[in-house]
Amino acid sequence: MSFSNLVNNVSYRDRQQNGDRSSQFSHMSRGVSYASTTATSVSISGDISSQLHGGYHHPLARAWQAERQLTKSMLIYPLFISDQPDEETLIPSLPNQHRRGLNRLTAHLDPLIAKGLAAVILFGVPINPGVKDPHGRAADDPRGPVIQAIKLLRRTYRDLFIVADVCLCEYTSHGHCGILTEDGTLHNALSVERISDVATEYALAGAHCVAPSDMNDGRIRAIKLKLIEAGIAHKTVLMSYSAKFSGCLYGPFRDAAGSVPSFGDRKCYQLPPGGRGLARRAIVRDINEGADIIMIKPANQYLDIISDAKELGKDMPIAAYQVSGEFAMIHAGAKAGVFDLKTMAFESTEGILRAGASIVISYFTPDFLDWLTT
Ligand SMILES: [Zn+2]
Repeated sequence: MSFSNLVNNVSYRDRQQNGDRSSQFSHMSRGVSYASTTATSVSISGDISSQLHGGYHHPLARAWQAERQLTKSMLIYPLFISDQPDEETLIPSLPNQHRRGLNRLTAHLDPLIAKGLAAVILFGVPINPGVKDPHGRAADDPRGPVIQAIKLLRRTYRDLFIVADVCLCEYTSHGHCGILTEDGTLHNALSVERISDVATEYALAGAHCVAPSDMNDGRIRAIKLKLIEAGIAHKTVLMSYSAKFSGCLYGPFRDAAGSVPSFGDRKCYQLPPGGRGLARRAIVRDINEGADIIMIKPANQYLDIISDAKELGKDMPIAAYQVSGEFAMIHAGAKAGVFDLKTMAFESTEGILRAGASIVISYFTPDFLDWLTT
């Protein structure tokens, strides 16, 4: 017997047994349900706990299913600050994102602040020739783009939370994230000394939060101690890029910041993509060294690490950086018709929150300010 015959046969037999009362179906099915809701029998197969749909039929009930719901206050918007005061350059590999000089900043930020922008993270981009040297001395130049931007933003926006990324790679002639020894590897003591000085200068300039992304061992402790010495530890958040993985998702950022290493790569200090245990050790270390927030970067490819961070640092906020490559990939997918941009922006971010983050550094921030009501 063919499958369609079998189906017809069975449905015919059922109609015969029920006296073909299809016109009374809705009435009858309700009657059957009432008759069978005793403690030992239900009209559906399986246990009553199999019935989930009612819990998320309404949009609000669906929102309640999330442990953390995305709000504007969870978002940090990355800004690339050029040392050319009038620059406003579109970064081709990073859709809708620009590198801006100081004179262009407030015109860009005013409407975003009006829509509820709560926090930004600043990356300096020195373009002037001759600014870079082996020690990254320009990183904490008081006339440099980051310190000038911190002061401008503090003056202009009373409520904007300012995070300063702390690294040397934008400022070193070799493009690595610290000071090098003769064999081209990182000199840990000198690098930590320099990174902690830069972090302290950013905090003294008015940054609410300093976020070292260099990955040198021991820099969290050094920064915390210098903030204490400077008398500003009590009003400065220390956010550690604890688990920053090396990989191929940073290309557009390096285009934006001009921070491609002149030789080699960063695999000896950023984490290997498979290194879950190593990431857990780095997270525990940074918690013990005095970090206030643990950050994971990139985000969507490392949701298990975000989840680990929430488990290891359950008493602290966890941040995730949805990096330039993730953002560009979502735009490329939407452009190719694979999915809708807004739907995927939400889905990817909700995945990050579900994994355990409550802070998301995202290039989608201006879009979310339009899409979210709170
Ligand atoms: Zn760096």
